[in-house]
Amino acid sequence: GNSVRTQAVQNITNRRPMPPKAPQSLASLWASDVFTLSKMKECLPKEVFKSLKKTIETGAELDVSIADVVALAMKDWALSKGALYYAHVFYPLTNATAEKHDGFISVQSDGSVISEFSGKVLVQGEPDGSSFPNGGIRSTFEARGYTAWDVTSPAYIMTTDNGATLCIPTVFISWTGEALDKKTPLLRANAAMNNAAHRVLSLLGHTDIAPVNSSCGAEQEYFLVDANFVNSRPDLLLAGRTLFGASAAKGQQFDDHYFGAIPERVQVYMQDVEEQLYRLGIPAKTRHNEVAPGQFEIAPFFESANVATDHQQLLMTVLKNTAKKHGLVCLLHEKPFKGINGSGKHVNWSVGNATQGNLLDPGHTPHSNTQFLLFCGAVIRGVHKFGPLLRAAIATASNDHRLGANEAPPAIMSVYLGSQLDNVFEQISNGEITGSLSAGVMNLGIGTLPVFSKDAGDRNRTSPFAFTGNRFEFRAVGSSQSVAGPLVTMNTMLADSLNWIADSMESELAKGDDLDTAILKTLKTLIDEHGAVVFGGNGYSAEWHKMAVEERGLRNLRTAADALPVLKEPDVRELFEKLGVLSPVELASRFEIYAEQYILAIEVEAKLVVSMAKTGIYPAAVKYLSDLSATLSSLKTNGVELGNERLILIAGLLSSMTAAADTLNATLAKHDFATIEEQLQFCANTIRPLMDDVRRFADGLEGEIADELWPYPTYQEMLFIK
Ligand code: ADP
Ligand code: MG
Repeated sequence: GNSVRTQAVQNITNRRPMPPKAPQSLASLWASDVFTLSKMKECLPKEVFKSLKKTIETGAELDVSIADVVALAMKDWALSKGALYYAHVFYPLTNATAEKHDGFISVQSDGSVISEFSGKVLVQGEPDGSSFPNGGIRSTFEARGYTAWDVTSPAYIMTTDNGATLCIPTVFISWTGEALDKKTPLLRANAAMNNAAHRVLSLLGHTDIAPVNSSCGAEQEYFLVDANFVNSRPDLLLAGRTLFGASAAKGQQFDDHYFGAIPERVQVYMQDVEEQLYRLGIPAKTRHNEVAPGQFEIAPFFESANVATDHQQLLMTVLKNTAKKHGLVCLLHEKPFKGINGSGKHVNWSVGNATQGNLLDPGHTPHSNTQFLLFCGAVIRGVHKFGPLLRAAIATASNDHRLGANEAPPAIMSVYLGSQLDNVFEQISNGEITGSLSAGVMNLGIGTLPVFSKDAGDRNRTSPFAFTGNRFEFRAVGSSQSVAGPLVTMNTMLADSLNWIADSMESELAKGDDLDTAILKTLKTLIDEHGAVVFGGNGYSAEWHKMAVEERGLRNLRTAADALPVLKEPDVRELFEKLGVLSPVELASRFEIYAEQYILAIEVEAKLVVSMAKTGIYPAAVKYLSDLSATLSSLKTNGVELGNERLILIAGLLSSMTAAADTLNATLAKHDFATIEEQLQFCANTIRPLMDDVRRFADGLEGEIADELWPYPTYQEMLFIK
């Protein structure tokens, strides 16, 4: 039999299960590896603590003179946890997390060593960042970048088999101040949104307005596959998804996996993950099976967007590292297996502050409803004006397999509000609030606005951007990507819309209108101009695709190749520049990097397709043909005629596959592109279909030749053996 596959199955069958850890109390685990505010309070002088707390809670500028004191306390705490190293953690534009480790060790003149950690190295680091993509920024400016401590995201201890490291979340910028990372724009976008929200809240008459921040709760989907299988699949190993593989007889058609009992091995894994997350202060809250066999979800409780983003990156790291310990591989790819559901990351997003609360909560009083409608309207306007940008923020080679695949939201960005809110905005558009609305809603008369029932009704799973009661849920985000980009986009478009609302209200008020009239006029203009983006129907349907584009003027950017060039459009450049989130140079660098990543990802996959077809599948098929033809001839000499149809069929599939692989290989040699846009289109519309051609014939062969000769673990094995 096929030694690699048989061995893999044997290994799994004979493995000794990881014993579950003895459960520990949440109180003893919670944030035990985090340098929390309460730990700082214990070990820092009162004045230092007060100053630091102010920076963390209000975004006030960090007083660098306290850095030495904080560094000393942080080092003592880290040493007590067994850390010998510290690392500035930063988030380059690759969706990855990067760390540069340095020892606390300092050698003295007499040869002895002490542990040292000064304020200077806490606040600023100098990684040799030259190997991180910078989209041309540093070639035009300075060669080096530096990292700077983000005080608003807590330091923590990361423990691995190789020891413990004090990790300090940082921004990564060039010496001339350009953002080379995903955190810097997020902090800037939050600040822009805060300013704009302040304007609107002031106009509404609030005088006590705490800083407005955005919140994020991300639901992470992932697959678990036994490491024995992954190690014998070059595609899973290098590209994170299967490039070949016929569907198993059983897929997800029985709907028996979703919310089913979690397999024991997976449960032990999940407990291990959660224990580590709790230690790191990450509030893991729900876990369950997902729709596809082998697919699961984990969702922490929401936190401030910046902290949630850092925690999301950590969560992905913990998921992957822990899987290894358990003999599993955690696949975060958006579409690891053809024919069953892919993985997404629903980004739940709201904005609010300590004085006015959640600004996307409809609340119970007419006054807060007015406020809610303005903020909700701002989101609607944002998605309408910048839907293509939202699409670009989730545009990756891997997410292209999922969007619009009739299981994930379409690539067309629309907003789902629910029938109750739809109705309210319709009435606003009609110029007055009349009559009583649907159940649970009360008309309070012209000039004031209705009270909503809290649960805004049905959930529409086909919408990429849905209002879900007190937040929006961006569902088109890919499972492997950082949530920073989507959050930057949402906060920036919201800032723009809130500024527009403030401008409009100011000009209405200047004309002598009262506040209610100014609000209603503003909302009416807003919904008349931007209501086309609101859609409550079936987002998967062909009618919607047609209607969205032809009647509503929404753009259907099918692939990342179509979507990424949006980053170059003048209104997008203006948006980011005006609000101080990304300069034109920074934005241009992002286009360059994301485009390059798209091209590289597809090139790697295409090369794998060629090599697996030639060196794995071709030899197996040839071996089978040779066995078969030898058997047929020997039968014939014994007077038994079996017919050679199967021989011809398999030889036909094999020569078609080989021809397709050769064509793909030859096509990959093309490198003379006039523009990067042309190369993107070439990858999306020429390379990818050629890869599909090879796969079609290869998957056909998998269904024809002897199972024991097939070189790669099958879908059935990978999805069902654990
Ligand atoms: P679902 O029905 O979509 O699975 P969950 O109750 O699991 O909903 O919540 C999904 C995520 O939304 C969780 O991370 C949760 O903490 C988060 N969430 C809840 N309320 C808010 C809010 N106001 N702002 C941001 N995220 C929120
Ligand atoms: Mg959800």
